[in-house]
Amino acid sequence: MRQSLVVGNWKMNGTRASAQSLAKGIIAGLNDSEAGIAICVPYIYIADIAEVVKDSRLALGSQNVADKASGAFTGEISATMLTEFSCQYALVGHSERRTFYGDTNESVAARYCQAQEQKIIPILCVGETLEQREQDQTFAVINEQLDAVIDVAGIASFANAVIAYEPVWAIGTGKTASDEQAQEVHQYIRQYIAAKDQAIAENLQILYGGSAKPDNAKGLFAMPDIDGGLIGGASLDAESFLKIYQSI
Ligand code: PEP
Repeated sequence: MRQSLVVGNWKMNGTRASAQSLAKGIIAGLNDSEAGIAICVPYIYIADIAEVVKDSRLALGSQNVADKASGAFTGEISATMLTEFSCQYALVGHSERRTFYGDTNESVAARYCQAQEQKIIPILCVGETLEQREQDQTFAVINEQLDAVIDVAGIASFANAVIAYEPVWAIGTGKTASDEQAQEVHQYIRQYIAAKDQAIAENLQILYGGSAKPDNAKGLFAMPDIDGGLIGGASLDAESFLKIYQSI
């Protein structure tokens, strides 16, 4: 049985003080659910938030990780650095990174490998743009995004990874994929992985991301291949993030 997981992506929001109080608010409202819960916070707040979460079951993650281990890469943060602050997860390939910062399928695969080398669980974000969906390219785009990682890391690596299906047209737009639209792609992803390794596919956590909110989370999470969510805007408020978490 797969464990469910809800992950907040704070993006570039908040202040040092508001970040700490948000993390404290989430911890204060945690129930005794068995589902996992994590927050991916701005790099600069990771040290502070590591202190806040240390005796709780709220896990910590980063929003990216360098594609190299160390060296002359100004502005980058390595996986080894993240492990010093108990980061358990790292987002890789978020569409905002792919769109605004030029992260390619190849660099995303390298980031994924760097995270895993340091025992950080990569959350591999995949998903199509509206234009790609309208041109019936959704599955082809997802194949390419997955293949880039499978080619370098191997299918077995997905035993220590999470996939987030995030249709780009639904991120931060208020337009959520319908439960059925999301399920269709989640099922496709699971079958794609299953064709290469059935056991890995059965245990793989596949999260939905894209304008998930307290009022639509229950329906999405009830779908058989949706194992939780990657939550952007709604994770910036403890109450709404917790409501989403409690919808699992
Ligand atoms: C995200 O950034 O991963 C995301 C899903 O954002 P939002 O929930 O705001 O659409």
